[in-house]
Amino acid sequence: MLSKNKIECIRRQFPILKIKVYGKKLIYFDNAATTQKPILLIKNIKKYYTKINSNVHRGEYKLSQLATEEMEKSRKKIQNFIHALYSHEIIFTKGTTDSINIVAFGIKNFIYKNDEIIISYLEHHSNIVPWQIICKEKGALLKIIPIDKKGCLKLNVFKKKLSNKTKIVSLTHISNVLGVINPIKKIIKMAHKYGALVLIDGTQAVSHIPVNVQDIDVDFYVFSAHKMYGPTGIGVLYGKKFLLEKLSPSQGGGEMIKEVNFNKTIYSNLPFKFEAGTPNIEGIIASRYAIKFIENIGIKKIKDYEDYLLFYATKKLSNIKGITIYAKKIPRSGILSFNLKKLHSFDVGNILDRLGIAVRTGHHCSQPLIKLFNIYGTIRISFAIYNTIEEIDFLYKAILKVKKIFSY
Ligand code: PMP
Repeated sequence: MLSKNKIECIRRQFPILKIKVYGKKLIYFDNAATTQKPILLIKNIKKYYTKINSNVHRGEYKLSQLATEEMEKSRKKIQNFIHALYSHEIIFTKGTTDSINIVAFGIKNFIYKNDEIIISYLEHHSNIVPWQIICKEKGALLKIIPIDKKGCLKLNVFKKKLSNKTKIVSLTHISNVLGVINPIKKIIKMAHKYGALVLIDGTQAVSHIPVNVQDIDVDFYVFSAHKMYGPTGIGVLYGKKFLLEKLSPSQGGGEMIKEVNFNKTIYSNLPFKFEAGTPNIEGIIASRYAIKFIENIGIKKIKDYEDYLLFYATKKLSNIKGITIYAKKIPRSGILSFNLKKLHSFDVGNILDRLGIAVRTGHHCSQPLIKLFNIYGTIRISFAIYNTIEEIDFLYKAILKVKKIFSY
């Protein structure tokens, strides 16, 4: 387990953690929305603009070659981080939402009337709406895996929903509302038996638990850099080479072509086929330093420490009268969602904010799940490696204050 000193040393690498809000020390518990950025990344963004800035894959001159090399080093870094077989299986996108849309629109030529696409109640809107659009356009059916009372996917129902009509199963690795970890290796195996492809939304997983795309045999795996200590505006689409080769690009333009004629265009090879236009070069390069930051600590150590925070927070907050902690009894990672009896999540979030604690409230872009619980939203705290036990103790006291303010 990482020592208190080590965590202090990690905290010092995040300049923003020193700021005050309303004169109070910032406690940042909204890491599932976006994480804060380490100095390593901030320095390298500055370095990019002061020493490297130029367009990639185009210029014959030194600076452009340097920017291209730096960008391609990031692709390699991400390949190794998620254990992909080839670096050209890593496509740079704008974020998870963009990655899912690229797959959904790229695969639609293989979806026919009455085909089926399976998602679940645990999905973020970005893993619902693109599939709804495709189903509407192609006359396919969207099937939903329900969850049980604890918050687990009902795998027996999933098994019954699978058939030769199932074309794609698209599920989250870890729920952004409940923190529930889905048994994706088992799910992928079940889906593959029927010849269905599987996309896993790893947005809430990659910076919290080890991910090995070859071991789980996933077809597509997607995530955003900004939730893993990286910059905004950068995402990753991993796909098995032979599948990405079959997918149609949904955007055309420079960089993604080999040859353009008015009657016919020949697309570039992977990964460039899916990277039309000038990419977010700065963001791509900076993402490498976000991964370096994670690797310097070690993803297994991060997992153990965050599991400890979650265990501690669940135990501590359970002592509060009138609290409901969702999915309390099942394997979760980094996220704790709760409500206080008779109080609206926005009111609780507002007062916590005044006390310097940043939490997320509301539906967390997962309205079907929130509606299933028959509530308006939850108060979500989500951890990163720089959070501490002392911050959880402070939150505990702050929740007691909230209750006192509303006097119950
Ligand atoms: N999926 C999950 C599980 C998420 O938590 C989020 C972000 N909240 C997204 C998808 C969408 O990510 P982005 O906004 O970076 O595209």
